[in-house]
Formats: sequence, C-alpha cells, structure tokens
Amino acid sequence: MMEAFLQGDAAFDGIFVTAVRTTGIFCRPTCPAKKPRPENVHFYGTPREALLSGFRPCKRCRPLEAAGDTPDWLRPLLADLEQDPTRRWRDDDLRQQGLSPERVRRWFQTQHGMTFHAYSRARRLGSALGQVQDGSQVTRAAFASGYGSLSGFQEAFQRYFGASPTDLNRTTVVRVDRITTPLGPMLVAATDTRLCLLEFVDRRMLATQVQRLRRHLDAVFVPDRNDIITRTESEVAEYFDGSRRDFTVPIVTPGTEFQQQVWSALRRIPYGQTVSYRDLAAAVGRPAAVRAVGTTNGLNALAIIVPCHRVIGADGKLVGYGGGVWRKKRLLELEIEAATFAP
Ligand SMILES: [Zn+2]
Repeated sequence: MMEAFLQGDAAFDGIFVTAVRTTGIFCRPTCPAKKPRPENVHFYGTPREALLSGFRPCKRCRPLEAAGDTPDWLRPLLADLEQDPTRRWRDDDLRQQGLSPERVRRWFQTQHGMTFHAYSRARRLGSALGQVQDGSQVTRAAFASGYGSLSGFQEAFQRYFGASPTDLNRTTVVRVDRITTPLGPMLVAATDTRLCLLEFVDRRMLATQVQRLRRHLDAVFVPDRNDIITRTESEVAEYFDGSRRDFTVPIVTPGTEFQQQVWSALRRIPYGQTVSYRDLAAAVGRPAAVRAVGTTNGLNALAIIVPCHRVIGADGKLVGYGGGVWRKKRLLELEIEAATFAP
C-alpha cells in the first residue's frame, strides 16, 4: 500500500484510503496533493473506517466520491456538509433542501455502509478531535490559551464538548481523547482521578452523554490525555485480547441513586454471562421497574467496563445497544470464547 501510495498508482483507487496523522485528513492513494512523510500515514480499507477514526475527507481528491458517480442531486448536500461539518442535520433540514431523507440514507448506506446521520456525527466528532490525533502538545497548549490560529478546530471542539478557554478555571477538568479497538475507535474521558466516559465514537447520543456528564460533574472538557486514559487504553486492549475480565481503573458514574444501583448491579454480572432486564430489575429490588432499568442501562456512559452488553431480552434476543447490536454480539462472543478456552 505504501508503494502504491508513493507512486500514486491509480489501480488502487477504491481499494484503500490513506490518512495522515499530522493533518487529520484522508485521501485516495492517487491524491495530487504533496505526499506526507511515510511515518505519518495510516491506511484504511474504507472511507468509513477513516471517518470513524476521526479523519476528514480531502477537499482535493474527495475520497468519499467514487470516481465520477456522485449523483448531481447529492452534490449540494455534500458541499454544505464540508462547509460546516459541525452542523447537526435533521430529516427536516434535508426536506427543506428538496431531498428525500430516505433517498439520502440509502445512498450513504450503499456507498459507505453507514447512514447519513452516522456520517454527519462522525464528521462532527472528527472535526472536533481531528487535530488531537497527532498528540501535538502545541495544539493542546494553544487550545488552553485560546490561540487564534486554531480557532476553527477550537470552535468545533467547543460546539461538541462545550468548553471555552475561560471555563478552564472551573473546578473539574475532564481530558478527552480517542483509543482504537478491534470494534472501532472509542472516545475516552477522565478527570485527574477517575474515568467518566468510554463510548464508541459512532454511537447515537454520544453528544448528549457528553452534555450530561458536563452538567453532573460541573466540568470542562479539554482535548488531552492523562494516566487514567492511558490505563483505560491498556485495560481495554487486554479485554479485547481475552486476558482481562475485571477492570481496575477507578470510575465515576454520576446519576440518581436508582441509576447508581442499576449500574452497580451491571458490574456484578459475571464475565461471559447474561441476564434479562427483568433479572436486573429484581436485582435492584424494583421488579416492576423493568422499563426504567432498560432506560438506565442505555444511559450507561462506560461501555464494556460497566457491562450493559450482558443484559438481553427475556426471550434471549440481543435487543438494544447504544453502540449497535452487532457490537453487543461480538463482545458476548469474545467473552464466551475466552471463558471457554481459559475457564
Ligand atoms: Zn487528497
């Protein structure tokens, strides 16, 4: 791939995309732009993976548009999206532009294997975190001091995480960064002493979770990393290779007393085992509150560590998971397999 990329080999167009850590941008292998240093290049099999990892599509080679086949009716929407990636789109906004939300959804699903809304969520987070990718201390320092040249990034970050440099004097500072996992990138946020958010970046309601945490912790989010995030990253990696069943990183799960009870009950479900929502309601002494238990399960902000994926429907079906039912299935398969081979 590196060879094909350095030579701009058109035979590989559509086979993979190249993403550059230092710029946060991804390209076709044939992009006419100046070639970056090889050590800063990542390869992804699809634009979708590059997007979900927080990269932005290149404006010159337009890697999202397979050669020449972007329909005319869609071009204005793609242009608007690139103009302002931080915008939240609703079906009504599409209709106002004379577009059918179903048609838009179908095109994105076919071309990129994701819905338009998932795509715009990924773009939003990508533009908020894009430049954090390279771990640049300069970016962080500039962000903290409100340095003007990064204003575009800073604004995107603020719109997503609600921080502003003047808020930095407030009590709790939450650092936020990304980690990669075999099931896709995750957003990780932690105070100086505790982990408060661990979620797949494409999950619905992620921005809502962030707002909820910000309110509960009276916190300001800044793009950065600390020991808690690094520790979470290694524990999650051990979990995915089957060598870790219990997490030891300290956590904080702000919520009502009932919510706290439900989340603690979740942590008591043994690795590789499942319970029903009804079992869970009984476990917290509220057998009639099955619905409320389900809702609280969905508000869990610490995926994997607070194992809401171990709760299933009474009929054994893998219903509802914020990160997508396919992930719930994979997590349970992984645990069952690890438990079978090393009981
Ligand atoms: Zn390009």
